[in-house]
Amino acid sequence: MVKETDVFNGVPLNKKAWTFTIPSSMPLFGQMSTLRLTETLEKQYETRESVCNELSLNKVYNRKIHVKYLLRKREILSSSYQSLDSSQPWLVFWQVNSMRLLDEQDHDKDAMIAKLESCRSKITGGYGGGPGQMAHLATTYAAVMALTVLGVKVPHKEQLVSFVMGRMGTDGSFTMHHMGETDVRGVYCAVSVLSVTGELSKHNFVKTVEWIKSCQSYEGGYGSRPRDEAHAGYTFCAVVSLRILTDDWIEDPSLLHWISKRQCSDELGFNGRTNKLVDVCYSYWAGALSKVYNILGVEELNRYILACQDLNGGGFMDKPGKGCDLYHTNYGLCGFFIDDIDVRYGLMSE
Ligand SMILES: [Zn+2]
Repeated sequence: MVKETDVFNGVPLNKKAWTFTIPSSMPLFGQMSTLRLTETLEKQYETRESVCNELSLNKVYNRKIHVKYLLRKREILSSSYQSLDSSQPWLVFWQVNSMRLLDEQDHDKDAMIAKLESCRSKITGGYGGGPGQMAHLATTYAAVMALTVLGVKVPHKEQLVSFVMGRMGTDGSFTMHHMGETDVRGVYCAVSVLSVTGELSKHNFVKTVEWIKSCQSYEGGYGSRPRDEAHAGYTFCAVVSLRILTDDWIEDPSLLHWISKRQCSDELGFNGRTNKLVDVCYSYWAGALSKVYNILGVEELNRYILACQDLNGGGFMDKPGKGCDLYHTNYGLCGFFIDDIDVRYGLMSE
């Protein structure tokens, strides 16, 4: 049952006459005659309203305009991409993978391979964020996945594996780079790279499996490391790493419960954490897990993803009203084609 309540009665809110619905599943709020409108709460209601408006437009998928968007990004990137100077293999991966998901031939294959090669450290064997930058597990993952999409053999595999395994600590966790931070992204990047290059079975990950399990929070999802807040990105990394290492999807009711709460009932897309805003990139990180456990509202998710399209310039945005970018375009498409991809890596299934 849904109750219509003027919850801001008594709170100085002359700028807007807010009324909204409170689900009966929130009895605590339902009983309150007043609710303090915090900045984050206000953002939630504004987002819900703008998403619902956009959903009502029933946008139709436009493949061609997204291809045009990607081709335009190859010519020139706006100044907002400057902050991604140390993520150049990621830019390559998001572009080539999006093209593949859109079923479009990539005519810049050689240039993309050359770009990735320029980021490869000839000393350590890993890939840095750009030419001459320190090798990092995340950019190494992006480079190897991009090469996989392009159907190219990874060069100097032995040296690459030595870089990846060199990140492993005595407790089975992985650091992102030499002397870097430890988190579950490191494990996912490492085991994914070893898996797609056929090197996984040559190493022992018994401690790694235990370390990943220690990252599960009281909520049921996984945090970046033990005792951190549950987050959909880290939960994806943890659960998929366990799948790669053990060949099984972990069965755990508290995990399923947490994942099931990530798909928003009004906005229809996913959020990444409890009480956070919907965002199209979680269509993949959380959508993939929901699909694995058969709890995905596919039609609802597709409606949200389509609402995040820019039908004038192409590309996908985090949420209606935001600007499009390559990251959200790739993961929006991964969510849209969730039935066609290998959910472990976000790559189109062969
Ligand atoms: Zn996002």
